[in-house]
Amino acid sequence: MAVQMSPRWKREPRTQRERLGHEQPGTALRGPPITLSCECGERAEVAYGEQWRCPSCGRRYDTARIPREDYGSIRRTQLRFRILPVGYGLFVSAAALFFMLTGNIFSVFFLLPISLMAWFMLIRPVHRKRYRRAIADLPRWDLRAD
Ligand SMILES: [Zn+2]
Repeated sequence: MAVQMSPRWKREPRTQRERLGHEQPGTALRGPPITLSCECGERAEVAYGEQWRCPSCGRRYDTARIPREDYGSIRRTQLRFRILPVGYGLFVSAAALFFMLTGNIFSVFFLLPISLMAWFMLIRPVHRKRYRRAIADLPRWDLRAD
């Protein structure tokens, strides 16, 4: 059975729809969920350290067997790639606030659409490509059913 990390946007649509709006609280702090795929084809996302029993075939897996350091490197990668979007948002907000305080309301109307366009057309595609590559380099583990 293979354990792998996948970027959120790469997951199958079915999983995405199920998760919409009710991502487990504390995901950012506890780290990303681990995708388990059972030998029978069943898939599930569990938090690190949790045990999972496959509902179709009854095999049990224990994610606590994944070395803490390996999981830590994944967590750090994910946090590292969260810095750019958050930093960009803060920068644009600060610039908008600066223009508003200095009476340049007109500039705010240019700044916001342009910075949004730059984000979606230029920065985000590159950022995602780099994130995908960084994730592909991360370790994978083989867990055996108990
Ligand atoms: Zn199974």
